[in-house]
Amino acid sequence: MPDTLPHAPAARPDLSFETRMTQAGRAPLRRHGFVNPPVQRGSTVLHASCEAMDAVHQRSFEQVLTYGTAGGPTHHALEDAIAEVEGGTRCLIVGTGLAAIAVPLLAYLKAGDHCLIADSIYGPTRRLADGLIRGWGIEVEYYDPLVDEAGMEALLRSNTRVVMTESPGSHTFEVQDIPAIVRAAHRHGAKVLMDNTWGIHHFQPFQHGVDVSIQALTKYVGGHSDVLLGSVTVNTPEDWQTVRAAYVALGQFASPDDCWLALRGLRTLPVRLKQQAENGLEVARWLESRPEVARTLHPALPSHPQHGIWKRDFTGTCSLFGVVLQPRYSRQDMCALVDGLHHFGIGASWGGYESLALPTAVTRTATPLALGGQAFRLHIGLEDPADLIADLARGLDALPR
Ligand SMILES: *Cc1c(COP(=O)(O)O)cnc(C)c1O
Repeated sequence: MPDTLPHAPAARPDLSFETRMTQAGRAPLRRHGFVNPPVQRGSTVLHASCEAMDAVHQRSFEQVLTYGTAGGPTHHALEDAIAEVEGGTRCLIVGTGLAAIAVPLLAYLKAGDHCLIADSIYGPTRRLADGLIRGWGIEVEYYDPLVDEAGMEALLRSNTRVVMTESPGSHTFEVQDIPAIVRAAHRHGAKVLMDNTWGIHHFQPFQHGVDVSIQALTKYVGGHSDVLLGSVTVNTPEDWQTVRAAYVALGQFASPDDCWLALRGLRTLPVRLKQQAENGLEVARWLESRPEVARTLHPALPSHPQHGIWKRDFTGTCSLFGVVLQPRYSRQDMCALVDGLHHFGIGASWGGYESLALPTAVTRTATPLALGGQAFRLHIGLEDPADLIADLARGLDALPR
């Protein structure tokens, strides 16, 4: 095992994702030989002299130790590992997924700018945009997530600074044509930000031209429903300067203990993801065969309206998808079904090892949403899918005839 592992993930394209995730961010011989990097906590960093302190502060945009909030060795290990997952060069770790959305939005936007946000965006991102961001004199406009290149072209203005994307969309699972959006946005000098939490490594944002990729590490990377973290990954020195300066200015930070948990989660990410994706597809296909179900919203199934785009741009799937019931069922029927499930917890978040169910609740302002029936979202965990299917069958059988 070499004592240093490369910082630039592009240096190891020959290795598979599984192999890279066992090695990313480790450098064991630099860390006294133990397999895993330790948790290193600290606020004050001591320096040998005033001159040495000045010298290290000059390099504060690199992985050096200046002060606790700038990050320490445990952060650096996770930064390297997530940059590798995303295929970018530099990564920031922040305290939550939502903070990972807020930092780049605030980094790029200023009063007088125009910002385009997909109508299918994660709800709390909309709350941030409609509240604080609008309040600072930034014009926020929502757009149809299924916009094509010409449609995006028509929305872009001379002051459009940011196009915010998320693919597939939260709860509604529209797959966006990211390369088309990127082409139009870049012609107008706008940055494309993407919430890539669903895609994880199956969507390589920088290969498709995205400028800033965001992940809620809370989800599959943490993987055990016991850690909140987010990441902001970029691929150019200019973008790094912009997001890193905002991170510092806003006093962002993540606990090294949580970074350590995320690194632990990362080692089993490929195998969990593969199994959960398979279990999820099995459950989704079975649901599609049931007469009570109008449709599933799963990009990896051929029935999904943007399955072709998913196939073109993604190399795999996770286990989060939507289920739409036939229009004859009421919200009360849907909630009774969800309430009656034995193996699905009812709650927010996803990406853990356990299955979850959540009624679909979305706000749309640019495009009317016609799901055609009551809907809920399923996250499929590591349980035996046969048990989950039996549970769902009981619930569907109990719906009013
Ligand atoms: C959960 C989630 C987030 C936010 O993550 P937190 O760590 O809970 O703040 C952001 N984007 C998407 C798509 C999510 O599902």
